[in-house]
Amino acid sequence: MNEDNSDHMAQIIDGKALATRIREKMKDRIPQLEAQYGRRPSLYVILVGEDPGSRIYVRNKINAATSVGMDARLIHFDDDVSESDLLNLIHVLNEDPLVDGILVQLPLPAHMNEERVVDAIAKDKDVDGFHALNVGALWQGTHGITPCTPKGIIQLIMSTGIPIAGKIAVVVGRSNIVGKPVAKLLLDENATVIITHTRTPDLKAMTTQADILVVAVGKERLITADMIKPGAVVIDVGITRNADGKLVGDVDFEAARKVAGYITPVPGGVGPLTIAMLLKNTMECFLNHAETHSRVSKLWTTIINARIGSK
Ligand code: NAD
Repeated sequence: MNEDNSDHMAQIIDGKALATRIREKMKDRIPQLEAQYGRRPSLYVILVGEDPGSRIYVRNKINAATSVGMDARLIHFDDDVSESDLLNLIHVLNEDPLVDGILVQLPLPAHMNEERVVDAIAKDKDVDGFHALNVGALWQGTHGITPCTPKGIIQLIMSTGIPIAGKIAVVVGRSNIVGKPVAKLLLDENATVIITHTRTPDLKAMTTQADILVVAVGKERLITADMIKPGAVVIDVGITRNADGKLVGDVDFEAARKVAGYITPVPGGVGPLTIAMLLKNTMECFLNHAETHSRVSKLWTTIINARIGSK
């Protein structure tokens, strides 16, 4: 690729603007749903401890949910709370018909088993999509709750108008929360998917094949311009703070812009979509609960009428 004398500049995929559009639509819809079902979608966020990053993430999630008209609550425990107390709280929220979504902010303190805590959340309230049954549903292609960041990445790619089907998609990183699920979602959209990781011997040989490149590692400038196929859609998931205290992604943004066709910035790319998809998942859980509740109510009416009629 000749990078020197080209005026080419990739189009920036504006995650903030896309997320705002999604949130505005939801904000318009919630009063109608409240009129129909008698209540608003509700999200309960559980925070354990005082980790400053987690506090910011939790505050952003609650504010986002409140801003679209959802009922969002924070339950904050000290970091010495026992796992059994946390599990008991989750069980109570699971049984509460007025709770649609439950999110436990990770990471949890070392004395807790994250897997056990996440799997204690009712499958139909697991708005993060991390419950083993939702992970299984994702890989089986059956109906479940899709994790927020991967779901948002697909929306960002689709917003370019470039079809995913038939493309070569390369995912850098294989974590359970981003790399693996986004690879499966790309496969579901009929991309040919390559997953790369720390043991991939020649990363550049893989990334230069990518029509769609999703990078979820957490290493500043891991992906340089020469590792990008000209015209590619580049989604930079990484967020780290560099030596200057600036939030940066995994892609050398300024140089990559001269090669890629579309690229997400950091911040303002994937992050806002993650939150928008959390709201979308909460909305899906609410609709599922509200519909089930109204079907069950109708069945009860039928049963009660039959009893009255048979007297
Ligand atoms: P992780 O640490 O769990 O996984 C990182 C992955 O990168 C691993 O699978 C590892 O194999 C791979 N990796 C590490 N070095 C590599 C290398 N040199 N070459 C190829 N692969 C390499 O991280 P994660 O939870 O998947 O998050 C990744 C990044 O995305 C982090 O910066 C995180 O903060 C960010 N993130 C952002 C959002 C968002 O909403 N914007 C959401 C989740 C994660």
